[in-house]
Amino acid sequence: MYIRDTIAAVSTPSGNGGIGIIRVSGDLAATVGNTVFKPVHDGGLVSHRFSFGIVYDAAIGEKIDEAMAVYMRSPRSYTREDVLELHCHGGWLVVERVLALVLSCGIRLAEPGEFTRRAFLNGRIDLIQAEAVMEIIASSSVSALQLAQRQSGGALSRRFESVRANILKALALVEAYIDFPDDDLGDTDKSAILASVQDANTIISGLLSTFEEGRVMRDGITVLIIGKPNVGKSSLLNRLLDENRAIVAAVPGTTRDIIEETVIFGGLSLRLLDSAGIRRTDDLVESEGISRALAKIPHADLVLAVFDSSLEFGQEDRFILDALADSRSIAVLNKADLPKKFVLPDDACFDAVTDIEALSGAGISSLKKLVCSIFSPANQSNPREFIAISRSRHRDALVSAAHHLQNFSFGLHDCNLELLALDLRAALHAVGSITGQTATDEVLDHIFSSFCIGK
Ligand code: GDP
Repeated sequence: MYIRDTIAAVSTPSGNGGIGIIRVSGDLAATVGNTVFKPVHDGGLVSHRFSFGIVYDAAIGEKIDEAMAVYMRSPRSYTREDVLELHCHGGWLVVERVLALVLSCGIRLAEPGEFTRRAFLNGRIDLIQAEAVMEIIASSSVSALQLAQRQSGGALSRRFESVRANILKALALVEAYIDFPDDDLGDTDKSAILASVQDANTIISGLLSTFEEGRVMRDGITVLIIGKPNVGKSSLLNRLLDENRAIVAAVPGTTRDIIEETVIFGGLSLRLLDSAGIRRTDDLVESEGISRALAKIPHADLVLAVFDSSLEFGQEDRFILDALADSRSIAVLNKADLPKKFVLPDDACFDAVTDIEALSGAGISSLKKLVCSIFSPANQSNPREFIAISRSRHRDALVSAAHHLQNFSFGLHDCNLELLALDLRAALHAVGSITGQTATDEVLDHIFSSFCIGK
Protein backbone atom coordinates (compact mmCIF):
# COMPACT_ATOMS: atom_id res chain seq x y z
CA MET A 1 0.00 0.00 0.00
CA TYR A 2 1.23 3.50 -0.82
CA ILE A 3 0.64 6.17 1.82
CA ARG A 4 1.56 9.59 0.50
CA ASP A 5 3.26 10.88 3.61
CA THR A 6 6.61 12.64 3.59
CA ILE A 7 9.73 10.63 4.33
CA ALA A 8 13.38 11.45 5.01
CA ALA A 9 16.65 9.58 5.35
CA VAL A 10 20.39 9.96 5.10
CA SER A 11 21.33 8.89 1.56
CA THR A 12 25.11 8.76 2.00
CA PRO A 13 26.91 5.89 3.78
CA SER A 14 27.14 5.91 7.57
CA GLY A 15 30.33 7.13 9.21
CA ASN A 16 32.34 10.25 8.45
CA GLY A 17 32.76 11.51 4.90
CA GLY A 18 33.25 14.68 2.89
CA ILE A 19 29.56 15.27 2.27
CA GLY A 20 26.43 13.90 3.90
CA ILE A 21 23.13 14.06 2.03
CA ILE A 22 19.74 14.08 3.72
CA ARG A 23 16.92 13.36 1.29
CA VAL A 24 13.27 14.27 1.84
CA SER A 25 10.43 13.10 -0.42
CA GLY A 26 6.73 13.94 -0.30
CA ASP A 27 4.30 16.87 -0.25
CA LEU A 28 6.02 18.50 2.72
CA ALA A 29 9.48 18.60 1.11
CA ALA A 30 9.29 22.31 0.24
CA THR A 31 7.87 23.18 3.68
CA VAL A 32 10.71 21.28 5.34
CA GLY A 33 13.22 23.10 3.11
CA ASN A 34 11.78 26.52 3.91
CA THR A 35 11.71 25.67 7.64
CA VAL A 36 15.20 24.32 8.17
CA PHE A 37 17.22 25.95 5.39
CA LYS A 38 18.07 29.64 5.09
CA PRO A 39 19.59 30.48 1.69
CA VAL A 40 22.33 33.13 1.68
CA HIS A 41 20.70 34.88 -1.26
CA ASP A 42 17.09 36.03 -1.24
CA GLY A 43 14.46 34.27 -3.31
CA GLY A 44 14.03 30.97 -1.45
CA LEU A 45 14.34 27.52 -3.01
CA VAL A 46 13.95 27.37 -6.79
CA SER A 47 13.19 23.96 -8.31
CA HIS A 48 16.25 22.15 -9.71
CA ARG A 49 18.68 24.92 -8.62
CA PHE A 50 21.29 24.44 -5.94
CA SER A 51 21.44 27.17 -3.32
CA PHE A 52 23.99 27.76 -0.62
CA GLY A 53 22.89 28.58 2.91
CA ILE A 54 22.67 27.36 6.47
CA VAL A 55 20.68 24.64 8.14
CA TYR A 56 19.11 26.42 11.09
CA ASP A 57 17.24 25.11 14.13
CA ALA A 58 14.77 27.91 14.99
CA ALA A 59 13.63 26.15 18.19
CA ILE A 60 17.04 26.61 19.80
CA GLY A 61 18.16 29.51 17.61
CA GLU A 62 21.27 27.63 16.45
CA LYS A 63 23.03 27.15 13.13
CA ILE A 64 23.49 23.38 12.63
CA ASP A 65 25.65 23.47 9.48
CA GLU A 66 26.43 25.19 6.22
CA ALA A 67 24.86 23.34 3.32
CA MET A 68 23.83 23.25 -0.31
CA ALA A 69 20.16 22.56 -0.85
CA VAL A 70 18.30 21.47 -3.95
CA TYR A 71 14.57 21.21 -4.27
CA MET A 72 13.07 19.16 -7.12
CA ARG A 73 9.42 19.79 -7.76
CA SER A 74 7.22 16.81 -8.67
CA PRO A 75 7.21 15.05 -11.13
CA ARG A 76 10.83 15.82 -12.14
CA SER A 77 12.48 13.94 -9.30
CA TYR A 78 13.75 10.47 -8.39
CA THR A 79 10.47 9.53 -6.69
CA ARG A 80 8.25 11.75 -8.89
CA GLU A 81 7.24 13.45 -5.63
CA ASP A 82 8.55 16.77 -4.35
CA VAL A 83 12.11 16.07 -3.24
CA LEU A 84 14.54 18.08 -1.13
CA GLU A 85 18.21 17.25 -0.71
CA LEU A 86 20.42 18.89 1.90
CA HIS A 87 24.13 18.44 1.19
CA CYS A 88 25.90 19.04 4.51
CA HIS A 89 29.34 18.34 5.88
CA GLY A 90 29.73 14.57 6.13
CA GLY A 91 30.50 14.10 9.83
CA TRP A 92 28.13 11.58 11.40
CA LEU A 93 27.06 14.00 14.15
CA VAL A 94 26.30 16.82 11.71
CA VAL A 95 24.29 14.48 9.52
CA GLU A 96 22.37 13.07 12.49
CA ARG A 97 21.53 16.55 13.80
CA VAL A 98 20.27 17.67 10.38
CA LEU A 99 18.21 14.49 10.02
CA ALA A 100 16.70 14.98 13.50
CA LEU A 101 15.84 18.59 12.63
CA VAL A 102 14.19 17.52 9.37
CA LEU A 103 12.20 14.79 11.13
CA SER A 104 11.01 17.30 13.74
CA CYS A 105 9.03 18.99 10.95
CA GLY A 106 6.39 16.24 11.30
CA ILE A 107 7.69 13.76 8.74
CA ARG A 108 8.95 10.22 9.27
CA LEU A 109 12.11 8.22 8.67
CA ALA A 110 12.07 6.33 5.35
CA GLU A 111 12.16 2.56 5.30
CA PRO A 112 14.88 0.67 3.36
CA GLY A 113 14.46 1.24 -0.38
CA GLU A 114 11.40 3.46 0.14
CA PHE A 115 12.54 6.24 -2.23
CA THR A 116 13.02 3.70 -5.02
CA ARG A 117 9.76 1.98 -4.08
CA ARG A 118 7.98 5.30 -4.56
CA ALA A 119 9.71 5.80 -7.93
CA PHE A 120 8.28 2.39 -8.87
CA LEU A 121 4.79 3.00 -7.44
CA ASN A 122 4.63 6.37 -9.20
CA GLY A 123 5.45 4.69 -12.52
CA ARG A 124 8.85 6.31 -13.12
CA ILE A 125 10.59 2.93 -13.25
CA ASP A 126 9.38 -0.67 -13.33
CA LEU A 127 10.38 -3.41 -10.93
CA ILE A 128 13.24 -4.65 -13.14
CA GLN A 129 14.72 -1.16 -13.13
CA ALA A 130 14.22 -0.84 -9.37
CA GLU A 131 16.09 -4.12 -8.83
CA ALA A 132 18.79 -2.92 -11.21
CA VAL A 133 19.28 0.22 -9.09
CA MET A 134 20.13 -2.06 -6.20
CA GLU A 135 22.49 -4.07 -8.40
CA ILE A 136 24.30 -0.89 -9.46
CA ILE A 137 24.97 -0.10 -5.82
CA ALA A 138 25.99 -3.67 -4.95
CA SER A 139 28.10 -4.40 -8.06
CA SER A 140 31.62 -5.55 -7.31
CA SER A 141 32.79 -6.14 -10.88
CA VAL A 142 32.62 -4.12 -14.08
CA SER A 143 30.57 -6.76 -15.87
CA ALA A 144 27.98 -6.82 -13.03
CA LEU A 145 27.83 -3.03 -13.12
CA GLN A 146 27.42 -2.83 -16.91
CA LEU A 147 24.67 -5.44 -16.90
CA ALA A 148 22.82 -3.60 -14.10
CA GLN A 149 23.17 -0.29 -15.91
CA ARG A 150 21.63 -1.73 -19.07
CA GLN A 151 18.80 -3.23 -17.01
CA SER A 152 18.22 0.05 -15.21
CA GLY A 153 18.18 1.92 -18.52
CA GLY A 154 15.11 -0.10 -19.54
CA ALA A 155 16.64 -2.38 -22.22
CA LEU A 156 15.46 -5.55 -20.47
CA SER A 157 12.08 -4.05 -19.59
CA ARG A 158 11.41 -3.40 -23.29
CA ARG A 159 11.82 -7.12 -24.03
CA PHE A 160 9.26 -7.95 -21.35
CA GLU A 161 6.95 -5.30 -22.76
CA SER A 162 7.06 -7.04 -26.17
CA VAL A 163 6.22 -10.35 -24.49
CA ARG A 164 3.26 -8.72 -22.74
CA ALA A 165 2.09 -6.97 -25.90
CA ASN A 166 2.07 -10.26 -27.82
CA ILE A 167 0.17 -12.11 -25.11
CA LEU A 168 -2.34 -9.25 -24.82
CA LYS A 169 -2.91 -9.34 -28.58
CA ALA A 170 -3.70 -13.06 -28.44
CA LEU A 171 -5.88 -12.60 -25.34
CA ALA A 172 -7.90 -9.82 -26.97
CA LEU A 173 -8.78 -12.11 -29.89
CA VAL A 174 -9.64 -15.07 -27.64
CA GLU A 175 -11.83 -12.90 -25.42
CA ALA A 176 -13.64 -11.47 -28.42
CA TYR A 177 -14.77 -15.01 -29.26
CA ILE A 178 -15.76 -15.70 -25.65
CA ASP A 179 -18.03 -12.66 -25.86
CA PHE A 180 -19.66 -14.06 -29.03
CA PRO A 181 -20.08 -17.78 -28.23
CA ASP A 182 -22.00 -18.48 -31.45
CA ASP A 183 -18.98 -17.66 -33.59
CA ASP A 184 -16.32 -20.36 -34.14
CA LEU A 185 -12.68 -19.39 -33.97
CA GLY A 186 -11.80 -18.95 -37.65
CA ASP A 187 -8.55 -20.19 -39.18
CA THR A 188 -7.26 -16.68 -39.84
CA ASP A 189 -7.76 -15.62 -36.23
CA LYS A 190 -6.35 -18.93 -35.03
CA SER A 191 -3.13 -18.33 -36.96
CA ALA A 192 -2.96 -14.71 -35.78
CA ILE A 193 -3.31 -15.88 -32.17
CA LEU A 194 -0.72 -18.61 -32.62
CA ALA A 195 1.71 -16.18 -34.27
CA SER A 196 1.48 -13.77 -31.32
CA VAL A 197 1.95 -16.56 -28.81
CA GLN A 198 4.91 -17.90 -30.74
CA ASP A 199 6.49 -14.43 -30.88
CA ALA A 200 6.09 -14.16 -27.11
CA ASN A 201 7.59 -17.63 -26.68
CA THR A 202 10.58 -16.82 -28.88
CA ILE A 203 11.45 -13.76 -26.78
CA ILE A 204 10.97 -15.78 -23.58
CA SER A 205 13.27 -18.60 -24.69
CA GLY A 206 15.83 -16.03 -25.86
CA LEU A 207 15.77 -14.42 -22.42
CA LEU A 208 15.91 -17.76 -20.60
CA SER A 209 19.00 -18.70 -22.60
CA THR A 210 20.79 -15.61 -21.22
CA PHE A 211 20.27 -16.54 -17.56
CA GLU A 212 23.48 -18.48 -17.06
CA GLU A 213 25.59 -15.71 -18.54
CA GLY A 214 23.62 -13.03 -16.70
CA ARG A 215 24.13 -14.86 -13.42
CA VAL A 216 27.87 -15.11 -14.08
CA MET A 217 28.06 -11.38 -14.89
CA ARG A 218 26.11 -10.49 -11.76
CA ASP A 219 27.41 -12.95 -9.17
CA GLY A 220 30.73 -13.91 -10.74
CA ILE A 221 31.92 -17.49 -10.93
CA THR A 222 33.03 -20.04 -8.38
CA VAL A 223 36.34 -21.63 -9.27
CA LEU A 224 37.40 -24.71 -7.34
CA ILE A 225 41.10 -25.61 -7.29
CA ILE A 226 41.51 -29.34 -6.87
CA GLY A 227 44.35 -31.84 -7.10
CA LYS A 228 46.59 -34.25 -5.19
CA PRO A 229 48.63 -32.88 -2.29
CA ASN A 230 51.83 -31.09 -3.23
CA VAL A 231 50.97 -30.50 -6.90
CA GLY A 232 51.01 -26.72 -6.31
CA LYS A 233 47.38 -25.79 -5.62
CA SER A 234 48.21 -23.27 -2.90
CA SER A 235 51.03 -21.83 -4.99
CA LEU A 236 48.55 -21.40 -7.85
CA LEU A 237 46.01 -19.72 -5.57
CA ASN A 238 48.67 -17.33 -4.32
CA ARG A 239 49.69 -16.54 -7.90
CA LEU A 240 46.09 -15.87 -8.85
CA LEU A 241 45.69 -13.64 -5.81
CA ASP A 242 49.14 -12.09 -6.05
CA GLU A 243 49.67 -12.66 -2.36
CA ASN A 244 50.58 -15.39 0.10
CA ARG A 245 47.14 -16.25 1.39
CA ALA A 246 47.45 -20.07 1.29
CA ILE A 247 50.29 -21.76 3.15
CA VAL A 248 52.76 -23.29 0.71
CA ALA A 249 54.79 -26.20 2.07
CA ALA A 250 56.71 -29.19 0.81
CA VAL A 251 54.81 -31.39 3.30
CA PRO A 252 51.73 -32.94 1.63
CA GLY A 253 48.38 -31.98 3.17
CA THR A 254 49.00 -28.39 4.31
CA THR A 255 45.66 -26.99 3.12
CA ARG A 256 43.20 -28.98 5.17
CA ASP A 257 40.02 -27.03 4.64
CA ILE A 258 38.60 -24.84 1.93
CA ILE A 259 40.29 -21.45 1.55
CA GLU A 260 38.08 -18.88 -0.14
CA GLU A 261 39.12 -15.61 -1.81
CA THR A 262 37.52 -13.32 -4.37
CA VAL A 263 39.43 -11.65 -7.19
CA ILE A 264 38.41 -9.67 -10.25
CA PHE A 265 39.79 -10.82 -13.61
CA GLY A 266 38.85 -9.13 -16.86
CA GLY A 267 35.85 -7.45 -15.26
CA LEU A 268 34.49 -10.74 -13.87
CA SER A 269 34.33 -11.58 -10.19
CA LEU A 270 35.94 -14.94 -9.36
CA ARG A 271 35.39 -16.75 -6.07
CA LEU A 272 38.45 -18.96 -5.74
CA LEU A 273 38.24 -22.04 -3.53
CA ASP A 274 41.48 -23.86 -2.72
CA SER A 275 40.72 -27.32 -1.42
CA ALA A 276 42.54 -29.97 0.53
CA GLY A 277 44.70 -32.29 -1.58
CA ILE A 278 42.86 -35.32 -2.94
CA ARG A 279 44.47 -38.54 -1.74
CA ARG A 280 43.74 -41.55 0.37
CA THR A 281 44.60 -40.75 3.97
CA ASP A 282 44.21 -42.04 7.51
CA ASP A 283 44.39 -38.50 8.87
CA LEU A 284 40.79 -37.78 9.95
CA VAL A 285 41.07 -33.99 9.61
CA GLU A 286 42.59 -34.26 6.17
CA SER A 287 40.07 -36.76 4.87
CA GLU A 288 37.26 -34.50 6.12
CA GLY A 289 38.85 -31.70 4.08
CA ILE A 290 38.98 -33.94 1.02
CA SER A 291 35.33 -34.93 1.21
CA ARG A 292 34.46 -31.23 1.56
CA ALA A 293 36.48 -30.53 -1.56
CA LEU A 294 34.74 -33.27 -3.52
CA ALA A 295 31.34 -32.07 -2.31
CA LYS A 296 32.11 -28.64 -3.77
CA ILE A 297 32.62 -29.96 -7.31
CA PRO A 298 28.94 -29.89 -8.39
CA HIS A 299 28.58 -26.32 -7.03
CA ALA A 300 31.60 -24.90 -8.85
CA ASP A 301 31.18 -23.12 -12.18
CA LEU A 302 34.71 -24.17 -13.09
CA VAL A 303 37.24 -26.61 -11.65
CA LEU A 304 40.97 -26.05 -12.04
CA ALA A 305 42.37 -29.58 -11.79
CA VAL A 306 46.04 -29.15 -10.90
CA PHE A 307 48.53 -31.91 -11.77
CA ASP A 308 52.25 -32.18 -11.13
CA SER A 309 53.62 -32.57 -14.65
CA SER A 310 56.96 -33.89 -13.31
CA LEU A 311 55.21 -37.04 -12.07
CA GLU A 312 53.58 -39.82 -14.03
CA PHE A 313 49.80 -40.04 -14.25
CA GLY A 314 48.73 -42.21 -11.28
CA GLN A 315 45.79 -43.82 -9.54
CA GLU A 316 44.86 -40.69 -7.58
CA ASP A 317 44.89 -38.65 -10.79
CA ARG A 318 42.43 -41.16 -12.26
CA PHE A 319 40.22 -40.65 -9.18
CA ILE A 320 40.21 -36.89 -9.83
CA LEU A 321 39.42 -37.35 -13.52
CA ASP A 322 36.43 -39.54 -12.66
CA ALA A 323 35.18 -37.07 -10.04
CA LEU A 324 35.22 -34.31 -12.66
CA ALA A 325 33.40 -36.21 -15.39
CA ASP A 326 30.35 -33.88 -15.47
CA SER A 327 32.09 -30.60 -14.61
CA ARG A 328 33.43 -27.71 -16.63
CA SER A 329 37.14 -27.97 -15.95
CA ILE A 330 40.64 -26.94 -17.02
CA ALA A 331 43.61 -29.27 -16.57
CA VAL A 332 46.42 -27.16 -15.13
CA LEU A 333 49.76 -28.94 -15.59
CA ASN A 334 52.02 -27.35 -12.99
CA LYS A 335 55.80 -27.48 -12.48
CA ALA A 336 56.42 -27.07 -16.20
CA ASP A 337 59.98 -26.03 -15.26
CA LEU A 338 60.78 -29.67 -14.36
CA PRO A 339 61.25 -32.53 -16.89
CA LYS A 340 57.81 -33.65 -18.03
CA LYS A 341 56.58 -37.18 -17.24
CA PHE A 342 52.84 -36.52 -17.03
CA VAL A 343 50.59 -37.63 -19.91
CA LEU A 344 46.81 -37.14 -19.74
CA PRO A 345 44.92 -40.27 -20.80
CA ASP A 346 42.83 -40.09 -24.00
CA ASP A 347 39.53 -40.28 -22.13
CA ALA A 348 40.25 -37.09 -20.13
CA CYS A 349 37.69 -34.54 -21.22
CA PHE A 350 38.76 -31.11 -19.99
CA ASP A 351 37.51 -27.91 -21.59
CA ALA A 352 41.15 -26.85 -21.89
CA VAL A 353 44.64 -27.96 -20.88
CA THR A 354 47.40 -25.51 -19.98
CA ASP A 355 50.97 -25.60 -18.64
CA ILE A 356 52.03 -23.32 -15.78
CA GLU A 357 54.86 -22.75 -13.34
CA ALA A 358 53.15 -21.62 -10.17
CA LEU A 359 56.55 -21.06 -8.58
CA SER A 360 57.76 -18.49 -11.13
CA GLY A 361 54.35 -17.33 -12.32
CA ALA A 362 54.91 -18.41 -15.93
CA GLY A 363 51.67 -19.31 -17.70
CA ILE A 364 49.45 -17.67 -15.06
CA SER A 365 48.28 -14.82 -17.25
CA SER A 366 47.37 -17.28 -20.05
CA LEU A 367 45.41 -19.30 -17.51
CA LYS A 368 43.56 -16.14 -16.37
CA LYS A 369 42.70 -15.30 -19.99
CA LEU A 370 41.51 -18.86 -20.56
CA VAL A 371 39.16 -18.66 -17.55
CA CYS A 372 37.77 -15.30 -18.72
CA SER A 373 37.31 -16.47 -22.30
CA ILE A 374 35.14 -19.35 -21.10
CA PHE A 375 32.80 -17.09 -19.13
CA SER A 376 33.15 -13.56 -20.29
CA PRO A 377 30.36 -11.99 -22.34
CA ALA A 378 33.08 -11.10 -24.85
CA ASN A 379 31.83 -14.35 -26.41
CA GLN A 380 28.77 -12.33 -27.40
CA SER A 381 28.75 -10.64 -30.79
CA ASN A 382 28.27 -7.26 -29.14
CA PRO A 383 29.02 -7.44 -25.41
CA ARG A 384 28.11 -3.79 -24.79
CA GLU A 385 24.58 -4.42 -26.03
CA PHE A 386 24.23 -7.80 -24.33
CA ILE A 387 20.99 -7.98 -22.39
CA ALA A 388 20.46 -10.78 -19.93
CA ILE A 389 18.27 -11.82 -17.07
CA SER A 390 20.31 -12.44 -13.95
CA ARG A 391 17.81 -13.08 -11.15
CA SER A 392 16.18 -16.41 -10.41
CA ARG A 393 12.94 -14.50 -9.70
CA HIS A 394 12.87 -13.46 -13.36
CA ARG A 395 13.87 -16.89 -14.62
CA ASP A 396 11.21 -18.70 -12.57
CA ALA A 397 8.47 -16.34 -13.74
CA LEU A 398 9.56 -16.76 -17.37
CA VAL A 399 9.56 -20.56 -17.03
CA SER A 400 6.03 -20.33 -15.65
CA ALA A 401 4.92 -18.01 -18.51
CA ALA A 402 6.45 -20.36 -21.09
CA HIS A 403 4.65 -23.31 -19.48
CA HIS A 404 1.25 -21.55 -19.75
CA LEU A 405 1.89 -20.48 -23.33
CA GLN A 406 2.76 -24.07 -24.22
CA ASN A 407 -0.48 -25.30 -22.60
CA PHE A 408 -2.27 -22.66 -24.60
CA SER A 409 -0.76 -23.77 -27.91
CA PHE A 410 -1.63 -27.43 -27.23
CA GLY A 411 -5.19 -26.51 -26.24
CA LEU A 412 -5.89 -24.29 -29.21
CA HIS A 413 -7.00 -27.28 -31.30
CA ASP A 414 -9.77 -28.17 -28.84
CA CYS A 415 -10.85 -24.54 -28.76
CA ASN A 416 -12.06 -24.43 -25.16
CA LEU A 417 -11.80 -20.67 -25.16
CA GLU A 418 -12.35 -20.15 -21.42
CA LEU A 419 -9.49 -22.52 -20.60
CA LEU A 420 -7.30 -20.95 -23.26
CA ALA A 421 -7.93 -17.50 -21.83
CA LEU A 422 -6.97 -18.78 -18.38
CA ASP A 423 -3.57 -19.89 -19.66
CA LEU A 424 -2.97 -16.58 -21.40
CA ARG A 425 -3.93 -14.65 -18.29
CA ALA A 426 -1.64 -16.82 -16.17
CA ALA A 427 1.24 -16.18 -18.60
CA LEU A 428 0.47 -12.46 -18.49
CA HIS A 429 0.42 -12.54 -14.72
CA ALA A 430 3.81 -14.29 -14.62
CA VAL A 431 5.39 -11.69 -16.91
CA GLY A 432 3.68 -8.86 -15.01
CA SER A 433 5.18 -10.12 -11.75
CA ILE A 434 8.64 -9.49 -13.21
CA THR A 435 8.01 -5.95 -14.36
CA GLY A 436 5.81 -5.22 -11.35
CA GLN A 437 2.31 -4.82 -12.85
CA THR A 438 1.09 -7.88 -10.97
CA ALA A 439 3.65 -8.09 -8.15
CA THR A 440 2.02 -8.47 -4.74
CA ASP A 441 2.83 -6.27 -1.73
CA GLU A 442 4.62 -9.27 -0.26
CA VAL A 443 6.95 -9.51 -3.27
CA LEU A 444 7.55 -5.74 -3.18
CA ASP A 445 8.28 -5.86 0.56
CA HIS A 446 10.76 -8.66 -0.05
CA ILE A 447 12.54 -6.83 -2.88
CA PHE A 448 12.73 -3.40 -1.31
CA SER A 449 13.66 -4.59 2.17
CA SER A 450 17.05 -5.64 0.79
CA PHE A 451 17.80 -2.04 -0.24
CA CYS A 452 19.68 0.29 2.04
CA ILE A 453 17.93 3.09 3.91
CA GLY A 454 18.13 6.33 1.95
CA LYS A 455 17.92 4.68 -1.50
P1 GDP B 1 49.59 -28.04 -2.64
O1 GDP B 1 49.78 -29.04 -1.55
O2 GDP B 1 48.99 -28.67 -3.86
O3 GDP B 1 48.82 -26.84 -2.20
O4 GDP B 1 51.04 -27.58 -3.10
P2 GDP B 1 51.88 -26.30 -2.67
O5 GDP B 1 51.44 -25.08 -3.39
O6 GDP B 1 51.95 -26.24 -1.18
O7 GDP B 1 53.29 -26.67 -3.30
C1 GDP B 1 53.94 -27.89 -3.00
C2 GDP B 1 55.40 -27.79 -3.35
O8 GDP B 1 55.56 -27.65 -4.75
C3 GDP B 1 56.08 -26.55 -2.73
O9 GDP B 1 57.36 -26.90 -2.28
C4 GDP B 1 56.18 -25.57 -3.90
O10 GDP B 1 57.24 -24.68 -3.77
C5 GDP B 1 56.36 -26.52 -5.06
N1 GDP B 1 55.94 -25.94 -6.33
C6 GDP B 1 54.79 -25.29 -6.58
N2 GDP B 1 54.75 -24.87 -7.86
C7 GDP B 1 55.90 -25.25 -8.44
C8 GDP B 1 56.46 -25.09 -9.76
O11 GDP B 1 55.88 -24.49 -10.66
N3 GDP B 1 57.68 -25.66 -9.98
C9 GDP B 1 58.33 -26.34 -9.01
N4 GDP B 1 59.51 -26.84 -9.34
N5 GDP B 1 57.87 -26.47 -7.77
C10 GDP B 1 56.67 -25.95 -7.47
